[in-house]
Amino acid sequence: MGALKDRAAGEVARLEAASLRRSRRVLDSAQGAHVRDAAGDCLNFSSNDYLGLAGDARLRAAAHAAIDAYGVGAGASPLVSGNLRPHEEAEERFAEFTGQPRALLFSSGYAANVGILATLAGPDAHIFSDRLNHASLIDGVRLSRARLDVYDHADAEDLAARLAASTADVKIVATDAVFSMDGDIAPLPRLLEACERFDAWLVVDDAHGIGVLAPRGRGTLAHFALASPRIVYMATLGKALGGYGAFVCGEEPVAEWLMQRARSYVFSTALPPMAAAVAVAAIGILEGDETPLPRLHRNIEAFRGACERAGVALSGWATPVQPIIVGGADDAVRASARLRESGFLVPAIRPPTVPADTSRLRVSISAAHTRAEVESLARALADTLR
Ligand SMILES: *Cc1c(COP(=O)(O)O)cnc(C)c1O
Repeated sequence: MGALKDRAAGEVARLEAASLRRSRRVLDSAQGAHVRDAAGDCLNFSSNDYLGLAGDARLRAAAHAAIDAYGVGAGASPLVSGNLRPHEEAEERFAEFTGQPRALLFSSGYAANVGILATLAGPDAHIFSDRLNHASLIDGVRLSRARLDVYDHADAEDLAARLAASTADVKIVATDAVFSMDGDIAPLPRLLEACERFDAWLVVDDAHGIGVLAPRGRGTLAHFALASPRIVYMATLGKALGGYGAFVCGEEPVAEWLMQRARSYVFSTALPPMAAAVAVAAIGILEGDETPLPRLHRNIEAFRGACERAGVALSGWATPVQPIIVGGADDAVRASARLRESGFLVPAIRPPTVPADTSRLRVSISAAHTRAEVESLARALADTLR
């Protein structure tokens, strides 16, 4: 067995040797297009704050008002006494915003995904998961003890063949809507068709589509004009919506089942009421006259155009997640360090977040950037990767 600290030091040394050791950067500023770290001010292309709302004055004001009215903590889990008026309002507002029958507020997207899958699927169920799904969906499968069947990325035909071969009573398909490290959009209409044909349920994780896709940022289901009683829809508040938390939406009895049984919901303190109030205010911004959404999409187009002119190869999707595949973990880390020296914060993403040999720079574009800023990044990328 050996001493714990020797074992720990050995594990970390192994990560270091493989260029897989990670360190945390400390930001001395709010999240936004410009941030400050130990090396000074830089242009930030590393956050999921796609609409620049994390530091938004209107959301700060909503948070202050909620703190004044409701304090800083919910004080209990939602089923005991931690469900305050702002939580209730946020659920109603979000259900309206996405056109879903009912929404249930979870403390994070991670908690929501493990809660959904472990509640809907028991050990006899069969869960079909896209090869590139987020870790929280995979962990939900593990917690459910259902059988895991991984289908080829975004491949509805492979999925259909696997569904056809399954004799399980309960079949669940789980997918990211916008893939978090690739930025491509899942073929949801075709996945839903397969679910209808083989009587499966469809769990859609819209962490990177909510606030981004469809008019007003109503998300990926709205983007495809999809609605079905088979769909359980999860969207997070910590990315484009600028705050923290997550919603799970679906038919009334499905939301009720999750509220009764999802252990990550039942046995966890409710979000601070402030986070719920921030969600309501963020939806207000998306539905208001000054929505940042058009600016986000103009910046994405400007970045992609500038990359094309500069000869930087991108994958082909117009979402805020713009990966540049480098290959080896150490190459990605070196490229990221060189960019930081030039004043650009662009993270290197390595295994286990992405498959081996697909380490990448993950550029995220925000509405808070200017056109000149996204174009300057494209030129810096061309210089760095040359
Ligand atoms: C970030 C993310 C989550 C987790 O959401 P948190 O609210 O950060 O816990 C789940 N799924 C995907 C695809 C994500 O990118």
